[in-house]
This record gives sequence, C-alpha cells and structure tokens, in this order.
Amino acid sequence: MEGSYCIGIDIGGTYIKMGLFDAEGGRHAFRRAPSNAAGPPEALLEALVRACRDLMETARLREGRVVAVGLGVAGKLDTAAGRVVFSPNLPNMAGFALAPRLHEALKMPVFMENDANVFGLGEAWVGQGRNIPNWIGVTLGTGVGGCLIADGALWLGDRLGFSGEIGHMIVDPHGPPCACGQTGCLEAHASGSALIRGMREALSAGEALPERITDALRTGSLTPEDVYGAADSGDPHARRLFQRMGWALGLALGNLFTFLGIESAIIGGGVSQAWDQFHPAMMETLRTVPKMLDPDGIRILRSGLGPLAPLYGAARLAWAGLDRF
Ligand SMILES: [Zn+2]
Repeated sequence: MEGSYCIGIDIGGTYIKMGLFDAEGGRHAFRRAPSNAAGPPEALLEALVRACRDLMETARLREGRVVAVGLGVAGKLDTAAGRVVFSPNLPNMAGFALAPRLHEALKMPVFMENDANVFGLGEAWVGQGRNIPNWIGVTLGTGVGGCLIADGALWLGDRLGFSGEIGHMIVDPHGPPCACGQTGCLEAHASGSALIRGMREALSAGEALPERITDALRTGSLTPEDVYGAADSGDPHARRLFQRMGWALGLALGNLFTFLGIESAIIGGGVSQAWDQFHPAMMETLRTVPKMLDPDGIRILRSGLGPLAPLYGAARLAWAGLDRF
C-alpha cells in the first residue's frame, strides 16, 4: 500500500504519544501531548480526534493517506468491543468505548491492545525481537506487564483479555501483597511500586535510610529513580530491593522458559533503566534455579526502542489488523 500510513497512539498516564508510520515501521511524524488523566474521557477523545486529523493532514501533504489507527492503553481492556474496562493510569476511562468512538469520528478501522502487548508488537516489528521468533516481553513500570511472542506473532490465548500477565504470577506465596489481591506476585517484587513500598517498610521498621529517601517518603514523593539513586550510592536496603527484583524476575522467567521451551526475553519499561542493579541477581537465578535450561542459551535483552516501543507496537497493531480484513 504505497502512500499509506497508520497512526500509532500510546496512551499513558502522563503523556499521549502519537506517530505516523509506514508499513515497514518507518516513523514519519511524532506528537506528544499531556494525557490529562484527571479529565473526562470525552475531552481525551476530542484531543485524540484533533491530533489524528492533524496527522492525516501530514499524510496528505506527503500525497498519502492514513488507513488505520492502533491504540495501546494500559489496563484491562475488552479488545473485541474496543472498550477500556479498567485503567490504573486513566481511572476516568473505565467503561469508555474508546475504539468505536474514535472509529466513528475518523471513519477508519481502529484497533486496541494493552500496553504490554503493544510493547511486544513494537519490539517484534523493528526492535530487539525482530529476528527472534519466540520470546517473553516484560515491562517494568509502576506495575509489571508482559507478553508472549510465539512464532513471531503476539499470543492472545483464548482472548480472555489478560494473556501475558506475567506480573501476577506468584513467585512467593508468603511474599508481599499485590495490588491485584493475591500475595507474592512478581509485580509485588519487581515493580516501581514494590521498590517504594520496600523503602517505606524499611523506614517503618526503624532502619537507617539515606536522608533524601526518608524526606521523600515523608512527603510521599519517593520515586523508583530515587530508590535506584540510593542503590547506586551503596544503600544496602535499596540494593536488597533490586536483588529481590532480579531474583523474582529470574524465577518467573525461568519457570516460563521451562514450560514453553524457549530461552529469550526482552525487558523494557521505565524501571528497566535500573538494569545494572537487578540484572546480576536475575541472571544468577536463571543460571542456577531452572535445571532444564542451558545457561549459555539464555538471552535476556533490553528493549531496543525504549519508551517508544508501545508507540511502534500500536502502529504495528493497526497494520496487522488491516491484514486480517
Ligand atoms: Zn498480582
């Protein structure tokens, strides 16, 4: 489809990223706008429609046209109905039929998937996964997301809306509570929220923490970056939290590798910036715990597209959706 473009949209809690993409994964325009998470869904829809029309005009100026839109949204989605069931980043979007409403306004096909699945599609398309047929994707952010790429395609299981939810695999039944209601999930050990909770618990237990951490905990402004900074400067509590993160990731990936008979994973998301702090414990666990795996075959890569992986994946979702028409 020469002169054809798809629009990729990554809706996060802070920013909406949008881009105009050709069928080979080339990016021809990029826009970023605040997502105004506290605002009504109608306002978000209006902003998306305006931005899409602007990108459609960009395509026209290149003597092309936009043929479909792909949306990546964090949270639980009813992808068949194009509806957001629940989004932790955008609580006001619960129940909103985002994809059909966008379709109605733009008169073109609109496809929607969750943020971890579009991360996988992006990396499989033009990122680290482009030459690897089978791999597990993990996104480390406020929570932990995941996806499975099998034979080069995104695995959707029975389309129950939660395939790839590696974050809610239990790695320690006696571990910390998880936001999902279970105990000891991977997310309760390996997410940004787990790092912050771990530091809060250390403070409550009367442990000596760096002053900067104590102050940030008291004002409720502690970020995963602060915990990384503390670990980097040698704080033993922060270091232990990253070791626990690495151990939990190694265990979850080791279990899945053994079950699936695969040995590759790609890790992205903002908290993956702390790679040097959790990577050694993760690799140590992967090398020693799952006995079926050949340690030399294990391949754990960092995202090649960084924060733009879900945006690329949203565009890939649109192109792949069109192919099925
Ligand atoms: Zn959970």
